[in-house]
Amino acid sequence: RRLVEGLSKTRDNIVSGIDSIFSGFSSIDDDFYEEIEEILVMGDIGINTTNAIIQNLKEQVAEKKIKEPSECKQLLIDSIKAQMDVGETAYEFENQKSVVLVIGVNGVGKTTSVGKLAGKLKDQGKKVILAAADTFRAAATEQLSQWANRAGVEIITGQNGADPAAVVYDAIAAAKARNADVLLCDTAGRLHNKKNLMAELKKIYRIIEREYADAHLETLVVLDGTTGQNALVQARQFKEVADITGIILTKLDGTAKGGIAVAIQAELDIPVKYIGVGESIDDLQKFNADEFVNALFD
Ligand code: GDP
Repeated sequence: RRLVEGLSKTRDNIVSGIDSIFSGFSSIDDDFYEEIEEILVMGDIGINTTNAIIQNLKEQVAEKKIKEPSECKQLLIDSIKAQMDVGETAYEFENQKSVVLVIGVNGVGKTTSVGKLAGKLKDQGKKVILAAADTFRAAATEQLSQWANRAGVEIITGQNGADPAAVVYDAIAAAKARNADVLLCDTAGRLHNKKNLMAELKKIYRIIEREYADAHLETLVVLDGTTGQNALVQARQFKEVADITGIILTKLDGTAKGGIAVAIQAELDIPVKYIGVGESIDDLQKFNADEFVNALFD
């Protein structure tokens, strides 16, 4: 239910249009497909992914000898799901110690997402430690400290401008000493300086490998859902500099561009693991492609 509410703008954008097509057409012809295509592209699903979806839909219609437009709706839903199949969902943090590196450019909701994730894991009974390794942005550490308070978890910080890898090093020591289950590291993401970012991440990875080799490692990129296709561009750029294991797609509550989740999974083959649907600590949800598509067409 919350998912449906959180996605209401995206739903309005995609579903109402689709429904009028299914009821407005009496036969399945080129115009019918074109109108579906237009709605998917307008819904930020992206032209490549949309083409693949329409192609798949056409094949299904031919194969199943479907004649009625109304019978296409479920096929369309299935075609979208098929495009999103990356065979992976959010990591469960069950049995192994974990380190999560969270990267993203300023303003996308990175610190907020780290705070929300900390709260979520704490609620599940996990011992969580935060590392304020975004030492580049002056207010980041202060802001993350507030989230640590809110979530009731410990935080390791460094001086402004300190080496992020040094903060991660200290945080690993703390995580080990306190037997923490999850170490969440808020790191920077200065895409305009890819070389530095790459070097910084490499250094952090080396330290994790050396100091905490048995921990499960996740690298999550935070993207702002309201930026639509730009989020896809950013994800591509981050993919060039890091081994991304998943995406956190934020601000889906305020946008009609939620279809970008489909494009990200289909075109980058990276799973969206969490979505942000609001500003409070409970507004981070595990992402599941099937549920997401069902919620869009509910
Ligand atoms: P950072 O610079 O990437 O660390 O971004 P912040 O975490 O500071 O977030 C930037 C703004 O986006 C803040 O005002 C957050 O409250 C807001 N924000 C983050 N996630 C969400 C979300 O899922 N929904 C909404 N509506 N706002 C969000």
